[in-house]
Formats: sequence, structure tokens, C-alpha cells
Amino acid sequence: MLPDRLTRIVDLFARLPGVGEKTAQRFALWLVAADPTISRELGESLTALREWIRPCDRCGNIAEVDAGGQAVCHVCRDNRRDPTLLCVVARVQDLLAIERSGAMRGRYFVLGRLLSPLDGIGPDELPLVELSRRIQNDGVREVIVATPPSVDGEATALLLARELRDRGVQVSRIASGVPHGGDLEFADQITLGRAIDGRRSIDNVGR
Ligand SMILES: [Zn+2]
Repeated sequence: MLPDRLTRIVDLFARLPGVGEKTAQRFALWLVAADPTISRELGESLTALREWIRPCDRCGNIAEVDAGGQAVCHVCRDNRRDPTLLCVVARVQDLLAIERSGAMRGRYFVLGRLLSPLDGIGPDELPLVELSRRIQNDGVREVIVATPPSVDGEATALLLARELRDRGVQVSRIASGVPHGGDLEFADQITLGRAIDGRRSIDNVGR
């Protein structure tokens, strides 16, 4: 029904999370009728996106590539942060949610995925070597595990506690308050702030 070029755009939009076929079509038709600078800017920005934006070399947060080819995020650049406090999260969205709460004065480490035996994701699939290196290099003394309160999130927290307990770091878990199975991203800032302030040690698991 639509010209091929437009169908291609609709198909691409429809691949974005939360965008269905109808919305994709609405976007595409809107762009055709709107000021042409919008689609031009959109195209140029998207072309440059993967060249200039990538995960932070240190923590996995989203970062912009600098002139030297390094990508270091604003949190890692912030000298006022406590380098001995490290918050481990599953996804960048969780990091952003915690940052919005303003309760975290340390830095972060983004795992990128959770332990999930049912989906075939075992400990070897998690960046534990990188995490250990980070802890050693920065002289981290406390690791706050802020994985979501789901089965996989809890399993990951226990794994991290076991892996890190002999390294001289205190491992704590964010307090409940974020509903079980809930998404950190959608927890309100006060709840998330309290969950971080009320964290509890999980040093003694499996002893
Ligand atoms: Zn970073």
C-alpha cells in the first residue's frame, strides 16, 4: 500500500522497543508531511550516533567519544564521587534511575545482563573479571548491588556476594521498597533513594 521507501522506514521504526506497526506508520507519515529539516536532522543524528556514543570504557554507562577516541561518562569524570563506593546495576536505565534519585555518591558498574539459568546465562556470561579489575584498580571498599528485585536479580546479587566476599570489600544489597519483580527504572525517586540508604550487607551468604 505504501511506497517501498516509506515501508522501509515503517519497518525500521517498528523495530524500536514499544513501537508497534501503527505508531511506526504514524511516525513515517508525519515525517513526510513535516518540515524537511526534521527528517534530515534525524537522519544525520542517527548516522553519527554509533560513531560518537558508546558504553563508557570504565563503567558501561552511556558516554560520548572524545577527541582521543576514549569514552568516559559524566559520572566517571566527576571528581567529587567517592571512588571506594561502587554500585552494580544490570542496565544503563537502572543507573539513570538511581542517578535521578540523587542518593548515590559513588560510581557505577553496568553488568549488561543478569544471571539467568533458565535462559542459559551462567556466571561465565557476566563481566566478573572486569568487575574485579575495577574493584582492585579503584580501591573499592563497598559494592552496592542494585540489581532488580526479581528472581534473576536476586540470583545475581548472591553470586556477586559470593564472588567478592574474599576480596576485602563489603557487599550490600539495596533494601526492599522496590516491589518484587518491579523495574528500578519505574520506581519513584524517593523509594529508590530509601532503598539505597537502607541497603543491607550480604557479606555472609553461603557461609
Ligand atoms: Zn563511566
